[in-house]
Amino acid sequence: MEVKTFGVIGAGQMGNGIAQVAANSGINVIMNDIAPEFVESGLNNISKLLARSVEKGKVTAEAKEAVLGRIKTSTDIKDMADADFVVEAATEKEHLKFQIFKDLDKICRAEVILATNTSSIPIGRIAAQTNRPEKVIGMHFMNPVPVMKLIEVIRGIATSDETFDFTWELSKKFGKTPAQANDFPGFIANRILLPMINEAVFALYHNVGTREDIDMVMKLGMNHPMGPLALADLIGLDTCLAIMETLYEGFKDSKYRPCPLLRKYVEAGWLGRKTKRGFYEY
Ligand code: NAD
Repeated sequence: MEVKTFGVIGAGQMGNGIAQVAANSGINVIMNDIAPEFVESGLNNISKLLARSVEKGKVTAEAKEAVLGRIKTSTDIKDMADADFVVEAATEKEHLKFQIFKDLDKICRAEVILATNTSSIPIGRIAAQTNRPEKVIGMHFMNPVPVMKLIEVIRGIATSDETFDFTWELSKKFGKTPAQANDFPGFIANRILLPMINEAVFALYHNVGTREDIDMVMKLGMNHPMGPLALADLIGLDTCLAIMETLYEGFKDSKYRPCPLLRKYVEAGWLGRKTKRGFYEY
């Protein structure tokens, strides 16, 4: 099977990045979200990033136009009937993803693989919403998608070898390096990353240090490119909280309890960069 048209559900920070990477590899993309302003904002973001690459001489103006020309936008999930492979990158809410997979299962041709970019929801649970669990897989891109080299490819309990191999090869076609993970809460990346971020929030909560000092220790002391609190703001505090809840629910181990301060920020609508306020102001 050849992927001529690649479907992306969700045009937020991950969805538009995935659309850009797919279009950049020469594939036509349909990028879907629930309202025109969300797809427009996603497309604007891609256009801005490409314009910056043109300024830096990394991409020609023609190549930029060609990439943009390969991306069609949509606000009707039925448009996914044309897709040969779909990645879902909608908001990290289980009920929402369940409905999307039920819809995609009806709309997409039987041979189409349905992948999810979920950070933490079990692949098996999402797959069980469909009549094609062997064709459901995790394709976990890293943020920012055009920059980061890794894709975590996650096998659900029912994922077939064929689905896995196809997704693995597609990841390489996108210029990324795949790593294989099995379907346990948080997979590999977030099982390790998020408890570290959560601990940094606890350090702030307990006034062990200021946000700047906590981030400085991890940057200069551990050689992390970004401090954990700045990284949480980049990921989105709502997404961070959702991942911690999934780890806590999945393992029932108190070491995964989300820090109350993280919850407080999310409840206040301080979600990080996307709302211009998180642990830092933007
Ligand atoms: P985001 O809030 O930036 O974007 C989510 C988008 O999904 C929004 O534009 C929203 O309108 C859209 N959406 C909601 N319901 C929809 C529906 N029914 N149909 C179509 N679109 C819908 O969030 P994000 O950071 O891009 O995260 C998206 C997914 O990627 C989540 O599952 C998240 O866990 C995962 N993820 C996030 C990161 C990260 O660093 N932010 C990294 C890897 C994976």
